[in-house]
Order: sequence, then C-alpha cells, then structure tokens
Amino acid sequence: MMMKKNDCFTVKIEDMTTDGDGIGKVDGFPLFIKDTVVGDEVEIKVIKVKKTYGYGRMMRILVPSPFRVDPPCPVARQCGGCQLQAMAYEKQLELKQKKVKENLVRIGGLADVKVEPVIGMEDPFRYRNKTQVPFGKNKEGKIVAGFYAGRTHTIIDQEDCLLAQPVCRDIIHITKGFLKEFGIEPYDEQSHKGLVRHLLIRNGYFTGQVMVCVIINGTKLPHQEEFIRRMCEIPGMTSISLNINRERTNVIMGKQMVWLYGTPYIEDKIGDITYQISPLSFFQVNPLQTKKLYDTALSFAGLTGNETVWDLYCGIGTISLFLARHAKMVYGVEIVEPAIQDARKNAQANGISNVQFFVGKAEEVLPKKYEEEAVKADVIVVDPPRKGCDETLLQTITAMLPKRIVYVSCDSATLARDLKYLTEKGYEVKKVQPVEMFAMGGHVETVVQMVYDGNK
Ligand code: SAH
Repeated sequence: MMMKKNDCFTVKIEDMTTDGDGIGKVDGFPLFIKDTVVGDEVEIKVIKVKKTYGYGRMMRILVPSPFRVDPPCPVARQCGGCQLQAMAYEKQLELKQKKVKENLVRIGGLADVKVEPVIGMEDPFRYRNKTQVPFGKNKEGKIVAGFYAGRTHTIIDQEDCLLAQPVCRDIIHITKGFLKEFGIEPYDEQSHKGLVRHLLIRNGYFTGQVMVCVIINGTKLPHQEEFIRRMCEIPGMTSISLNINRERTNVIMGKQMVWLYGTPYIEDKIGDITYQISPLSFFQVNPLQTKKLYDTALSFAGLTGNETVWDLYCGIGTISLFLARHAKMVYGVEIVEPAIQDARKNAQANGISNVQFFVGKAEEVLPKKYEEEAVKADVIVVDPPRKGCDETLLQTITAMLPKRIVYVSCDSATLARDLKYLTEKGYEVKKVQPVEMFAMGGHVETVVQMVYDGNK
C-alpha cells in the first residue's frame, strides 16, 4: 500500500514490542505506536515509513483498551524506565508468555513448543535492588537527577522511582543537595565537562545493606568527608565508593574504583546462600524473582548429587553456588574478573568447596578445556547476555554431550536462535518456563530444559 508521512488512520493495537510500543496494522502493514496499549482503538498519524514497517504517533484514543490502567508513577509516560505501566499487570504477563512462544515457533522452528505461564510477582513495584541515576542540568541550569526519557539522554528529574526502594529517593535527594551546596558540577555529555555522572545504588533485599557508588569524570569528589558523613545517615549504609569514568561513552561505569567507606561490597541472600556483590559485578535486579528463577534452573538441572555441572556466564557464581549443594562438582566461567573474585569469595563464605571458577570468555574457556583436558559435563547451564551464545560455544556443548542443558535467557529471540542449533544437534526442548524479572518493563527471563535425544 502507499502510505506517506502525515497520513492519518484508525488502527486497533494488536500487540506490543519489547520496548512497549503498540503494534497496529493498516492493510497488513505494521506500525509501531508509542503510548498505546494492546486492545486500544486509536487515531494515528504516520511519522515515518520504512520498507516493511512504519511509525505512528497516537493522536487520540477512540476506544480505550480494557487492559488500560492509570500508571501509578507521575512520569510513567516520559520515563524510559517503565514501558508497560499503563497496562494491567496480568495482561503484561500474558503478553510476555505470548512473545516467548512466538519467538520459539518463528525463529526456533519449534512448532509445537509448550510455554508455561510466566511466574509473576505478587506486588510488581519496588522490587529492584539496583538503581542507576544520571545527573545533569536542565535548560535553566538547575541540577536534575533521575532517569532517562525513552530512547534519549534527556534526564527526567524524578527522585522517587516506583520500581526502586524508598532509600534511593533519600540518597538522590541528599546528593543533589550536596552538589548544589558545594557548587559541584554534574557531568555534561555534550561538552564532556563537569564531574558527577551517575549514582549507582544497590541494596540488599534481605540484609538491608545499602551501597552508593558515585561515578565521576575526575579522580576526586570535593568535600568527600562531608558526602560520606551525609550518606552515613542513611540506615543500612554499608559501602561508599567512587568509580572513575573519564571516557566519552554511554557505558556508565569505568574500571577504576576508589573506596571511601565501609566494605567494597554489600551482601544479600538468595535462598540460604549469601552473596557478596561489588559495584562492578552483575547481580540479578529482582531478588524475590531471582529465587524463583534459580529454583526453576535447579529443578530443570535434575541433580542427584553425582553430577558434574558447567555454569557458563556465571557472574558472581550465583547459579553455580545455588546448584553446588546438589551436585558433585560445579565449574563456573565468567568474563568479568572482579565477578570471579566475588564468586570465589562467595564460595568460601558459604563453605562450598565443590566449585571452581575460571575467568574468560565462555566460548574460549570451554572449547580449550575440552580440547586440552577433555573435561566432561552431565549438565550445562548457560545464562548469556542478550546477544545469546556464541556458536563456537554451542559447538563445544554439543560435542561434550551433556544429558541436560539448562538455558537461562533474557532475550527470547536469541534464545530461539540457539535452541534451533541445539535441536538440530539432537537435543529436545522439554520445558519452557518464563519468569518475570522486569515487571512494568518489556523483557522477561526464560528457563529452558533440554535433554539429549540420542535417536536424532
Ligand atoms: N548467571 C549469573 C550472571 C548472568 S548475566 C547470574 O544469574 O547472576 C550474564 C553474565 O555473562 C554477566 O556476568 C557477563 O559479565 C557475562 N558475560 C558476558 N559475555 C560473556 C562471555 N563471552 N563469556 C563469559 N561470560 C560472559
């Protein structure tokens, strides 16, 4: 069809993208439309047309979706943090399940795959244990701090995020006041000038410990003694640090840490395992749901106590330690060196000795170990970042022929691609369990159990 910019149409929103845009079709041609909810009937104006899809702006809601709710956060619409706040929570879960299923069928070629309903949250707010807050100035030169608007680096000045713990609000508020009082400049991306770029706040859900890390474009925080004094008034303050990032980059954290107060980590518990978490290490952001995620992974691993397990992309050894009590031996591989240091400390602190950790790329470490030492595995767990597993790694995994593979994924499209590879090598998908980790956001975690089907 001939569609042009500024054309207007009436469309029914049929689906949503992971970024929270509604998808509606005009004569079969899909349009992505912000600020709409599945089930809405809306009037739209076309703002961009590409070959196979386009973008529309929502002009008017003609018939609101029955799944529409009033977002509880006053900046839900502008803020890039939440994508689905205007949609009933039950519907969010249903859409996420549908998305996983569609990707496994379309990309993974798994026509008959059964995807379980998403394990959801009882209370889908205030669940995050980590908050990253950019600092800057608005047009009037006033210091602002909060969250980026969707797809831009415009800072929405908002101290209280409804996904974060209330303590974050106090920390942001105190820091803002501190910068103002002492004339300390927030960082400006355009000119690459100014000092304070971000705050990283982490809190232990079960321990109540709080960590603050100030990311600076410099080497020192002026009046740091006063900053420490003020931060120490926050209940649970356990760790205060600076992170030095002098690069012109979107990457939030630099490599170098300066420790100002307390321990260089905070602790939290998942199940009966205590983890030490450093500012630079990955740790799942939703502690209550993480327990459910790891319980699912544990059950899919089917351990009896005799198994050798490889946990690839192990971070600070969270899954490794969770499985170790039920296995003979667990080997973890992770690319970030400080995370592996945490993993080793965590093993020791929990009195777990049947684990061993390696620093390096999973797709290099495992093939090398397999070639040189013929290492074996009964179960292999992978939990890669969004881009999924490297094919070299999948090759080695299928050569090692573990009885079971447990795939923990935060992106069902790359999951589907990798499952396709593994099923072609004789593995069969037995169970697919999505777990909510990002309520109000578009993403979902998925745990898949695969077993080797020798007949193929
Ligand atoms: N299983 C852990 C971490 C999962 S996040 C947990 O549940 O907490 C993915 C991890 O993979 C991150 O820690 C990241 O640093 C690591 N990573 C990214 N690319 C990697 C690679 N090529 N090889 C090994 N680890 C990698």
